[in-house]
Amino acid sequence: MKLHSENFPQRPAWTEIDLGKLRRNLQLIRRDLPRAVKLLAVVKDEAYGHGALDVARVALEEGAWGFGLSTLEEAMTLRESGIAAPLLLLGERQEAELEWCVAHDLTVCVNEAHAVRHLARIAVKFGKQVPVHVKIHTGMSRYGVRWDEAVPLIEKVVAEKTLLLEGVMTHFAQSDESDKTYANLQFARFSDVLSALERRNIPVALRHCCNSGGYLDLPGAHLDMVRPGILIYGVFPSQVCRQIPGIEPVMSVKARIAAIQTLKPGEVVGYGMRYAAKTERRIAILPIGYGDGFPRVRNEGCALIHGRRAPLVGGIAMDALMVDVTDIPQAQMWDEAVLMGKQGGDEITVRDIAKLKNSVTYDVLTNWRLRLRRKSVNGK
Ligand SMILES: *Cc1c(COP(=O)(O)O)cnc(C)c1O
Repeated sequence: MKLHSENFPQRPAWTEIDLGKLRRNLQLIRRDLPRAVKLLAVVKDEAYGHGALDVARVALEEGAWGFGLSTLEEAMTLRESGIAAPLLLLGERQEAELEWCVAHDLTVCVNEAHAVRHLARIAVKFGKQVPVHVKIHTGMSRYGVRWDEAVPLIEKVVAEKTLLLEGVMTHFAQSDESDKTYANLQFARFSDVLSALERRNIPVALRHCCNSGGYLDLPGAHLDMVRPGILIYGVFPSQVCRQIPGIEPVMSVKARIAAIQTLKPGEVVGYGMRYAAKTERRIAILPIGYGDGFPRVRNEGCALIHGRRAPLVGGIAMDALMVDVTDIPQAQMWDEAVLMGKQGGDEITVRDIAKLKNSVTYDVLTNWRLRLRRKSVNGK
């Protein structure tokens, strides 16, 4: 037997990425959007933990115009893997990164005059006309030039012969709650900037401001392009936003039963002896723990086994958690358990895990550790 890396036995715990569902979600979004509105698929942080390259390939086939990323390294990795589509770096750039961005045709957002001049000089050096997006802060007070100082900066971009003002953008602080007052205020500020540009005859090809929440609930704000992230992965940004039927989560987390213990009354489970059996119990051990990104819970949460809920007992360890399968007698060694996702008619949602973690769905998706291998399925 050869012990080569290609037949390295994989851990019986993994994340499953259903590229068929990803494709379907993108199709539903594409169908829901007016044809003229471009789709920038946000694939930062390894496509919210789904694997940026796999996601980008499917998204391009389903009509994405380009991709939103956060770090230079993320964008470089996609470029070097052969993704030729526009890559827009949404975050803040250090000056030293700008040359790399120009060299590899990565589009940056600018929000102050010094970066504009610097980028223009680099463009001269590379003999390129470099597209830029101006990022405007309209009330989130994070990245971007203030809305009431945006026009002079945009005029500086336009004045640089080697730069092309391709886009103007802003970002909502809250777009997925029922109360849209603040989102509307932000959009009004953004619209004021856009009107001022029109009065000055400054054309902008891509005016964009909608994340998933804005895309779903603020159709009047779609403008030229929308930037959904979490929705692509099948998770709605909130429970009160518009729901598109058929959108389904792309990621599941699974493990196989690696041991089974029978407990007599009074016997305990795990570190800290946090669970004691009142009656005889059958306990299945799943080889996945907080070291894989599962929330550090005690006697809370469950796994699906044979389509039924097996409650978690005791405290979760770094590499293991224990579930009670007394009521699932058919559960056997190496049976598949679902920690997040569907099995049979039941589902543990990303939101369920977020509750256990006292956090948000975004945090759950992005924080499964890579020692859980990603297994892509239904990739065609
Ligand atoms: C992350 C991000 C998005 C996507 O947000 P979702 O809520 O996941 O849709 C859009 N725009 C910007 C600027 C972002 O940073």
